[in-house]
Amino acid sequence: MTDAPPTRIAIVGGGTAGWIAASALTRFLPKGRFSIALVESEEIGIVGVGEATIPQIRLLNAALGIDEYAFMRASQATYKLGIEFVGWGTAASRYIHAFGSVGRPTGTVPFHHYWLRGRQLGQRQPLDAYSLNAQAAWSNRFAKTDGIDLPYAFHFDAALYARFLRGWAEARGVTRHEGRIVEVRRDGESGEVRDVVLSDGRAIAADLFLDCSGFRGILIEQALETGYEDWTHWLPCDRAIAIPCAPAPSLAPYTRSTAHRAGWQWRIPLQHRIGNGHVYCSAHTSDEEALAVLLANLDGEPLGEPRTLRFSTGRRKAFWNRNVVALGLAAGFMEPLESTSIHLVQSAIERVIRYLPNGPIRAADVAAYNAETVFEWERVRDFIILHYHANSRPEPFWRTCATMAVPETLAAKLALFRANGRITRQNEELFAEVGWLQVLIGQGIMPEGWHPLADGHSPAEVVELLTLLRQVTAKQASTLSDHAQFLARHCPAPSPTRQAAPSVMPS
Ligand SMILES: Cc1cc2nc3c(=O)[nH]c(=O)nc-3n(C[C@H](O)[C@H](O)[C@H](O)COP(=O)(O)OP(=O)(O)OC[C@H]3O[C@@H](n4cnc5c(N)ncnc54)[C@H](O)[C@@H]3O)c2cc1C
Repeated sequence: MTDAPPTRIAIVGGGTAGWIAASALTRFLPKGRFSIALVESEEIGIVGVGEATIPQIRLLNAALGIDEYAFMRASQATYKLGIEFVGWGTAASRYIHAFGSVGRPTGTVPFHHYWLRGRQLGQRQPLDAYSLNAQAAWSNRFAKTDGIDLPYAFHFDAALYARFLRGWAEARGVTRHEGRIVEVRRDGESGEVRDVVLSDGRAIAADLFLDCSGFRGILIEQALETGYEDWTHWLPCDRAIAIPCAPAPSLAPYTRSTAHRAGWQWRIPLQHRIGNGHVYCSAHTSDEEALAVLLANLDGEPLGEPRTLRFSTGRRKAFWNRNVVALGLAAGFMEPLESTSIHLVQSAIERVIRYLPNGPIRAADVAAYNAETVFEWERVRDFIILHYHANSRPEPFWRTCATMAVPETLAAKLALFRANGRITRQNEELFAEVGWLQVLIGQGIMPEGWHPLADGHSPAEVVELLTLLRQVTAKQASTLSDHAQFLARHCPAPSPTRQAAPSVMPS
């Protein structure tokens, strides 16, 4: 035990990143040894997009002890079983990157080697015929049934989600300071951030700052000038226009991503509305054209005014610099194509807790934190680049993506897969083999061969295996409930008029 005063942690920003950080810290750090404060400005607001997640978010909810149905009601949430990609490989192609398994491994050989061999034997059914998540998604079904493995994530209203987490964290002792930070003061000797000063003169001092201030990065960049590694030569989309629309008659349990001439459009169905946005490359299309494309491809009546956001995909040169750790949009911008940003906040805060300073900040801890975070970001980046790079579309934007040189790490993955269909997951890479598989095949990359052990069965045995797996998958999917009915039974959200969201403004 120590009589030392508590370590003061200040979180700058109250968007999704800030409130996830506050919730996790208050849940896991012992009171008395740490004090946690959060500063946010309602006048500035939050970015308010970021409505699709990946299954790991359920680990966060479980760690915090958040009741799933309560959280879903509070944030107008729906279930998400994967992402449908329309028009990505070619203008006519359509595939799904579904969560969960595809087929079943036979012996030591991954399933897709049998699928590849089966194609030679005339079994031309797509990979999704072997994915329960995909079959459930196509028929708008969802259920939680013992013995049925249906991994899922959520779509939710980002502003309502941040508000839900705020309530959770404040109830457990996080001190919230409302106000606009106008100055960041640094220690003359160490260069560390000493305190942040609000417009009314209040100063909030801390030993460790988490910069969750969004695109501004007011500590990590404006104060510490950490620098930015720009990835726009690989991921050239630099703008998005977002607009919600009225819900469609059926409630899809998946995100849809539709490729357009110079970018792509997301469709995220919530209980009360659909979130839509067009992510595009300003060098290849104008804002006016991007808006027109978005409005022409909505499932329902537009609700509200469109909002434009600008960004450069990339990351801070250091995620942890001196006594500041950047999380969320302050850490960098990862294209929302695979809904990874909220997860990157979640894994960053888990890492912050793992490397929490015990007294003075040590260079070795900072270096290890930064190395792990760089690895995680770069592997996610590679996965997203794959979607852009492997395409046969004719438009200039897509031809540029198809012919660009990709990072060596991605080039090696592509070469390995093209040869004999092998996919290797390294260390703690976020996306597993089955995720890469669906996107590689979906984008039109077909390996030249397969694992020789897949030739160890007779053609009849392979056909029988594939037929059986398809039948079992289709049968299981048919037993699931209708997605909308499931939500209505377990977690119907209140009418949106009684659930006004906090202020949301473009950054
Ligand atoms: C177009 C687009 C689509 C996206 N889609 C997805 C998605 O589908 N899935 C996903 O996981 N992620 C997505 N993201 C990313 C996601 O939106 C962010 O990761 C997430 O919202 C976290 O934002 P944030 O909390 O870092 O920043 P913000 O929401 O911008 O919050 C910043 C906070 O800092 C405060 N602040 C800023 N300056 C000051 C100041 N001077 N004084 C006091 N307070 C200040 C603000 O008030 C606010 O509280 C998307 C992002 C974009 C741009």
